Amino acid sequence: ASKAEGLNRLHVFEPGLLLIRRLRSQLLEDLRAAIKGEGLVLHYQPVVELGTGQIEGVEALIRWDHPTRGRIMPDEFIPLAEDAGLISELGLWVLSTAVGQLRRWIDADLVDSRFSVRINISATDLQSLQFIEDVRAVLKQTGVRPAQVVLELTEAAIVRGNDLDRYSLGGLRGLGVGIEIDDFGTGYSSISYLRLLPVDRVKVDRSLIEGLGTDPSQPALVAAVLQLVRACGLEAVWEGVETAEQAEHLRNLGCLSAQGYFFSKPVPPEQIPALLAQTSSQSNRG
Ligand code: C2E
Ligand code: MG
Ligand code: MG
Ligand code: MG
Repeated sequence: ASKAEGLNRLHVFEPGLLLIRRLRSQLLEDLRAAIKGEGLVLHYQPVVELGTGQIEGVEALIRWDHPTRGRIMPDEFIPLAEDAGLISELGLWVLSTAVGQLRRWIDADLVDSRFSVRINISATDLQSLQFIEDVRAVLKQTGVRPAQVVLELTEAAIVRGNDLDRYSLGGLRGLGVGIEIDDFGTGYSSISYLRLLPVDRVKVDRSLIEGLGTDPSQPALVAAVLQLVRACGLEAVWEGVETAEQAEHLRNLGCLSAQGYFFSKPVPPEQIPALLAQTSSQSNRG
């Protein structure tokens, strides 16, 4: 059976591979054009102060509205951009768009000087010294306080921990921007030197809070993670909060900030003013 079948399969698959390759290079062309022109958009998801319900900042999340394929999510095209060497251009676009947006919110008096915008950066950005210069330039152009810009890096990117990464982290930190470890708890072996990394906060991956409200052992685990993070001199933000029970548990456990569909999905920038107005009127500001 097998040999003939194997050959047949080759015949079936080969045009498929060609097609994929062609699609891929077409998609890359389109992405190049989008970075220079139109089609990329940033949505913003609130990060909420659990104690007051107020929005303390937002995370910028990229989407690609492709002219014929419709909306493409970052998990689908960021890896492509990384492979094709387009990530620095993309990263610069995200950086200047998000910080420019923050500038407009500040100018419109919608947010105060504690409000921050979080920007996801790729491991490749961290490896490029140009990126530090880009951040410096964007801060200078916009006049935004560096502390209002927080860069999110995945644990995997930081944990590679080579000298260049350390140097870059130090350089970014030297500019005064915040650094946060994203998806914390999904990697491994980082705990021992969490303490040594030049970061300010960790954003705990949503898998760590999934069982809150259903699994009776989960609160103890969350409490332990919180304690660990604080023992390292850091603070935690909890992502992926989808239910009122999860939010309530986190607040009772002493967690300070969280993010998730329960509070708001990522929304286009035009919707942020309404969300800000809503939460500041709900919360008791004494
Ligand atoms: P991330 O930085 O960990 O972002 C959180 C992801 O979880 C976002 O998906 C967000 O929409 C989603 N999310 C937020 N709240 C909830 C919730 O309550 N439940 C569930 N199930 N999901 C929630 P998104 O926007 O598809 O982004 C996926 C990933 O793509 C991001 O993960 C980040 O690693 C990457 N990414 C997004 N924007 C950028 C960017 O501008 N640059 C780079 N380099 N990477 C980006
Ligand atoms: Mg993130
Ligand atoms: Mg995350
Ligand atoms: Mg992620």
